[in-house]
Amino acid sequence: MRRVAGRVYVPDAQGRYRSYRALWVKEGRVAGLEPGRGEGEAVLPGFHDAHVHIWKIGQLLTDLLDLRGVRSLKTLRRLLEERDRLLPPGAWLLGRGWNEALLGAWPTRAFLDEVLPHRPVVLTRTCAHIHVANTQAFQRAGLGPDTPSPPGGEVRYGEGLLLERAYGLLERAMPRRTVEDYQRYILAGAGHLLRHGITSALEAGADPLLLEAYRRLDQEGRLPLRVSVLAVVRPDGEETTYPLPEPYRSERLVVAGVKFFADGGLSGASAAVSRPYREVGGKGVLRLSAEELFELALPAHEKGFFVATHAIGDVAILEILRAYHRLYQARPLPVRHRLEHFGLPGPKALGLARALGVWVVPQPIFLEELRENFLRYLPEEFLPQCYPLARMAQAGLFLAFSSDAPVVQEVSPLKGARAAGRPLVGKGLPFLRALFYYTRPEASGLPPAWLWPGQRADLVVYDRDPFRYPEEAQVIYVEVDGAAVFTA
Ligand SMILES: [Zn+2]
Repeated sequence: MRRVAGRVYVPDAQGRYRSYRALWVKEGRVAGLEPGRGEGEAVLPGFHDAHVHIWKIGQLLTDLLDLRGVRSLKTLRRLLEERDRLLPPGAWLLGRGWNEALLGAWPTRAFLDEVLPHRPVVLTRTCAHIHVANTQAFQRAGLGPDTPSPPGGEVRYGEGLLLERAYGLLERAMPRRTVEDYQRYILAGAGHLLRHGITSALEAGADPLLLEAYRRLDQEGRLPLRVSVLAVVRPDGEETTYPLPEPYRSERLVVAGVKFFADGGLSGASAAVSRPYREVGGKGVLRLSAEELFELALPAHEKGFFVATHAIGDVAILEILRAYHRLYQARPLPVRHRLEHFGLPGPKALGLARALGVWVVPQPIFLEELRENFLRYLPEEFLPQCYPLARMAQAGLFLAFSSDAPVVQEVSPLKGARAAGRPLVGKGLPFLRALFYYTRPEASGLPPAWLWPGQRADLVVYDRDPFRYPEEAQVIYVEVDGAAVFTA
């Protein structure tokens, strides 16, 4: 038995944190808690990020040029030139994370040609739905000014932009990712989550090759945190369908859910909404009707998989809730399905989500990192309805918070919980309440992890009390199954 002393904070079932002065760990589990006020370092349950793209974080930390937060074309140019010097001649330069609202302009083919004419360059926007490429990249893929747009996508050769499914035309010419690449990315991404105190996470969409990479890492005992992997059945914007995955459950890895996409995002004005966007116009695109999702998801529902659907606009959200309602009517099973993002829910959506008992998984940090895009594109009437986290909590929803990194840069639950207090309009969510919603692994088919006796000793240690110093507190130590996985 080992005693971990400090200010130990453990939530009760209602999410109220109680303090203890120590906890006991035996064979990877919590053996007991000592009542009383502790001192010094703060010990909390390890956090759960309920929607994150672990491998993409890792890819950004390794092979891709990270363009998140870049605030001018001048900086973009410098970053491209720096990366260019590190790559072998002729190799593709791939980057991700630019946002025109921050850059102050859209990057174009002409701009990229001017900076790097001699190698193919493709830069993906923060939303991952829009890409800009230089002439070399277009040529390598056999694309030119006369290339027609494919169904569900758009090629804008002049600007160098590829929207939605048009990216597939370019991707065919790029080097293929291997299982080993994926493994490398997963481990780099996992390391990044752990250093922020995240001890379990949901990988929010995996194709069969990524699933295979996870299975291998787990079987080799190399997964340093708990992961629930959502298997993509119908890839975003495509007509093909992957078979349902084999259900999988070990101590570290769970495959129990499947992923669908109903619309795009608010920051790129592609989420399906009932009122037109400002500046760019249009009401986004609904990619999946209630009828289609019902048909696609029924086999998964019947096999006990939870269904997780990306739905951001008010129109998409209601459509998906209708599909879930039909699933439960067709086969009343105890599985809780999920709505990913849940960006613009109206009162009707809040009521329906509550009545169906589904999980909703928003990203509080969007309120900070994508705030400029929201304010720019959303009609005024939508502002109070944009990620209304306090209303979601009030409505009694099953709520689990997440980052959706690398769509955003910040994965820290402390930062996310602070952002939850600053909605675009109206009242925010109290910090402690918000933090608790980063402690809901059940939303991803993982066991609760609140440091209750008998539960796994997955914990994070801060140098000072994060409840009192949310800005300054630093993660100094993290354990999974009672074993160190990160030390500052
Ligand atoms: Zn996502």
